[in-house]
Amino acid sequence: MIVGILGGGQLARMLALAGFPLGLTFRFLDQAADACAFPLGEALVGRFDDPRLLERLAAGAAVVTYEFENISLRGVESLAPRVPLHPAPRALAVKQDRLREKQLFAELGIPTAAFAPVTSEDELRQAAKRLGFPMVLKTRSQGYDGKGQWIIGEEGALGQAWRRLPRVPLLAEQFIGFDREVSIVAVRGASGEEAYYPLAENVHRQGILLTSRSRPADPAATIAQAYAQRLLAHFDYVGVLALELFQVGGRLLANEFAPRVHNTGHWTIEGAETSQFENHLRAILGFPLGATAPVGAVAMVNCLGKLPDPRRLLGIPGVHLHLYGKAVRPRRKVGHVTIRAADEGDLEAKLREVEAVLAACEA
Ligand code: AMP
Repeated sequence: MIVGILGGGQLARMLALAGFPLGLTFRFLDQAADACAFPLGEALVGRFDDPRLLERLAAGAAVVTYEFENISLRGVESLAPRVPLHPAPRALAVKQDRLREKQLFAELGIPTAAFAPVTSEDELRQAAKRLGFPMVLKTRSQGYDGKGQWIIGEEGALGQAWRRLPRVPLLAEQFIGFDREVSIVAVRGASGEEAYYPLAENVHRQGILLTSRSRPADPAATIAQAYAQRLLAHFDYVGVLALELFQVGGRLLANEFAPRVHNTGHWTIEGAETSQFENHLRAILGFPLGATAPVGAVAMVNCLGKLPDPRRLLGIPGVHLHLYGKAVRPRRKVGHVTIRAADEGDLEAKLREVEAVLAACEA
């Protein structure tokens, strides 16, 4: 069975690695000729809205999915009559506009930071009056990993900020002084069957995920699951979906969702009975879902902008290394490390060791 994937980055690569044991083969479409998933399947290089390439991606495929949301919605929609396509383009359409995304959260009763659309200096000033300072500005589309995001600290900075902001539709958000960031990775099968991984507790640096730690039996998991469930039901969703949230006291505020496998679920490769990648494939192919239970205490650390020393990392018991085969660029995700341990104390010690090795290679 052939699985077509729009996007050929590390998520596509890890989907393929999870799919080989199930006898699946892969075909990828990406704009970059050196996309890191390409060695694992058939490579199509070009634009995501090229009708000829989309035709080739879909030809004979059992299903088409996507690993990246900044792709042409029209291109994805054009595939729908030709081949089973999951997750549905309606989830992608919402995801591509941060305003629609926040409006949907509100519609579904999922709390968020207060927000306002901004297309003029006047609207920016109105938003500041309502949201206060600091205020976060984000481009409504195309932003990821902290790109397309600015913080305005005080009223006096508004005029200069407006002159520097790009002339594209923006979303203003109240700045949340959160206690921690968490996410829930959920999966829904074609028959409506649902499963949830344990809550992940996440740390970002300059808008990019640095570490994710599985928190089984976390008291916040029940609310996070309930919010994710509303999204799954709303979209009649098939596949893996991740929901990122801020925790403030006992409250969870949704920041964003991703209609795809997610970086905060990478720990599931070694840390759960069935990885998010395998479960996404099972879901979109109509297979039964696998168990999402954690296997030991587990954490994940991203390798950003530098290749780590494999000898030193692999010398730490319980460490698993995933390098994506990508060219190194500043702050780019080039790999990740999963750490598995017998208990939380042991995990903490190993996490410190891994961080020391990664810091040494950054120096
Ligand atoms: P995003 O691109 O929306 O995922 O944002 C990336 C990261 O920026 C988040 O994971 C937070 O660490 C931070 N961030 C985004 N929005 C806010 C906000 N409204 N208040 C505080 N921090 C935020």
